[in-house]
Amino acid sequence: MINRQQLHDIVQQLKKQDVQLIAVSKTKPATAIEMMYELGQRAFGENRVQELVEKHEQLPKDIDWHMIGHLQTNKVKYIAPFIHYIHAVDSLRLLTEINKQAAKQDRVINCLLQVHIADEATKFGFLASELKELLHNDLFLHYKHVKICGLMGMATYTTNTTQITKEFASLQTLFQTLKTTIFADKPYFKELSMGMSGDYNLAIAQGSTMVRIGSLLFGSR
Ligand SMILES: *Cc1c(COP(=O)(O)O)cnc(C)c1O
Repeated sequence: MINRQQLHDIVQQLKKQDVQLIAVSKTKPATAIEMMYELGQRAFGENRVQELVEKHEQLPKDIDWHMIGHLQTNKVKYIAPFIHYIHAVDSLRLLTEINKQAAKQDRVINCLLQVHIADEATKFGFLASELKELLHNDLFLHYKHVKICGLMGMATYTTNTTQITKEFASLQTLFQTLKTTIFADKPYFKELSMGMSGDYNLAIAQGSTMVRIGSLLFGSR
């Protein structure tokens, strides 16, 4: 785990660049989160619903919890009462369920649409073409209990920085296109969640506004 000074340096760097840090605490114990919390960090990311619910119960209530992993429709109800952000919305069905569960809680849940940018079959998300088509129906732009705040993507797991940069750049291009067209009258459509421990500087260079960093902060899993 990194020390106070190192965390401070990273947070300062990100602040200067106007990038929000999501500390990815998955698999790490509540005590590790408490240490980071003591250092001032408030946004934490998890990728499993049960772990997220347990940690939310155990830890201070002013933590902003971010669900960053693939979310099954039937599990939305467990996190709807408290979740701050859902990063990986990858189907209209999921978005519809989030809207429904958020309505029951009288809440509005911040969502990001996940776009498949990696050269890997295993990563979830809409293809850019699918997303454009979907948005043209604009059915879900009228949902009252979800706020589509932007896009999220994960680059290919590779050491080829040219490829990673190309993938992040493609997401940035799509983001700008949507921002200036379909979401032009939605000022809250402004977040681009991209970048992890190994590639966050490349992501920031391509305009990321939120980085999801785990192992660099908490040590390897
Ligand atoms: C685990 C995870 C991260 C953080 O990965 P690190 O390499 O540990 O920084 C970021 N985003 C998602 C979606 C993850 O599942």
